[in-house]
Amino acid sequence: MNDFLQRCRQQIGNQYVLTEEVDTLVYERDQRQRATGKALAVLKPGDTEEVAAIVRLCQQFRVPIVPQGGNTGLVLGSIPDDSGTAIILSLTRLNRIREVDCDNHTITAEAGCLLASVQNAAIQHALLFPLSLASEGSCTIGGNLATNAGGTAVLRYGNARELCLGLEVVTPQGEIWHGLRALRKDNTGYDLRDLYIGAEGTLGIITAATLKLFPQVRSTSAAWLALESMSQAIALLTLSKQVAHATLSGFEIMNELSIRWVHQHFPHYQQILSQPAPYYVLIELSGSATQEDNDEQLSKLIALALENNLVSDAAIATSLAQHQHFWTLRESISAAQAKQGKNIKHDISLPISQLAKFVASTDALLQNYAPNCQMVTFGHVGDGNLHYNVAAPEGIAPEIFLHQQDAINRIVHDQVQLFHGSISAEHGIGTLKKEELRRSKSAVELSIMNSIKRSLDPDNLMNPGKIL
Ligand SMILES: Cc1cc2nc3c(=O)[nH]c(=O)nc-3n(C[C@H](O)[C@H](O)[C@H](O)COP(=O)(O)OP(=O)(O)OC[C@H]3O[C@@H](n4cnc5c(N)ncnc54)[C@H](O)[C@@H]3O)c2cc1C
Repeated sequence: MNDFLQRCRQQIGNQYVLTEEVDTLVYERDQRQRATGKALAVLKPGDTEEVAAIVRLCQQFRVPIVPQGGNTGLVLGSIPDDSGTAIILSLTRLNRIREVDCDNHTITAEAGCLLASVQNAAIQHALLFPLSLASEGSCTIGGNLATNAGGTAVLRYGNARELCLGLEVVTPQGEIWHGLRALRKDNTGYDLRDLYIGAEGTLGIITAATLKLFPQVRSTSAAWLALESMSQAIALLTLSKQVAHATLSGFEIMNELSIRWVHQHFPHYQQILSQPAPYYVLIELSGSATQEDNDEQLSKLIALALENNLVSDAAIATSLAQHQHFWTLRESISAAQAKQGKNIKHDISLPISQLAKFVASTDALLQNYAPNCQMVTFGHVGDGNLHYNVAAPEGIAPEIFLHQQDAINRIVHDQVQLFHGSISAEHGIGTLKKEELRRSKSAVELSIMNSIKRSLDPDNLMNPGKIL
């Protein structure tokens, strides 16, 4: 492999071919530090042509490629196996905003741009790029598209797929597909863009994307509500859609334990309501109305919810700082869980109408199997997406409880199947959920997916072992 690495150095420069463990480890370890792979080298090309040249060298020398953006993925898709045969191809040097077209409401950004940089570039033109995740300061637009990321604004604006109009891709053969179209209508045969989005780097390398922008909102209001049950949350969601229509921009649910742990681990965060409740919902309305009118619409919604006994208590943010505080509590749940110790995580989606029945029956099955296990249930309920996590009963060490992971996954994912849901709503498959994917897709669907993979990447060099 010395010849291969030498040719890579000539192509992109010695300093961008990392082989020393002290330099490569951070790329080889997943962000939750659950797994560490071993790469032949980490390569950091500086533009699309360099990416294509490296891919052609990989073809020639039969070297597998693991594309990597911010390495914030949660399913072990961005790290190699431990064989030391694959390269990690880091896209982080492809970080230029190529164009903002204000009249077309589009931005063209290279794959290695941080999500936060794309958001900021839009703001500089008084526009909005709405994709928003807690990892936005470190994940990249290429990774967002490769995983079809979701986040907190899907309810109003859709996920990464719905925000993307065109792509530039380096194929497994090292050709460049110049597909950076900025069209909202384009019915010209198979949609290749949609094939690469969500493919987790198994079909090619995204090097740039043309993305939709939106007018900035003029006003935004938020409320924190106490509820007795998941069914009330679903009824409240329906009511919110009826009252607020397109201004409904956020609808997040959190169970009592998830917020209790946030306050336990971050005691300086202020409590919002005086009494705990089984569930909390964070509602956000935003739009082009004045702040006063937007606040009034939210107050009207809450009054209706109280009248219909859907909520037991409510607080409306009276300042931007308070609004941000509501979101901080919501976005601190993952960090609080990490401090509490490992738990068994599920990122699932269901038809919204099935959520309450799913939670009631699955909670009961889990209690039956692992009495007193603790449920950390939260997520983007407006999109039917729950982070449905199972933690050890009090007094049992998380590491011991993890021995039950396979059985607990089985219970949860079988229930997901029963209620016609998905085992991965927004994080993807990677290697972590590969077995589950095999169980949850039909033979026909798997066969079509395998045919696409074989036809585009016959040598299986693009992120091998991921998804399929
Ligand atoms: C605190 C936290 C909160 C999160 N919240 C959310 C959330 O709300 N919603 C959500 O959807 N996700 C969330 N995530 C998961 C993660 O941030 C997203 O999956 C993100 O889109 C990954 O981007 P990345 O640049 O880090 O990609 P990486 O982790 O580097 O890669 C992810 C996958 O994409 C592939 N890939 C990366 N770049 C490219 C490219 N240019 N071309 C082809 N393939 C590529 C990789 O091979 C890998 O399979 C969260 C993660 C953290 C740590």
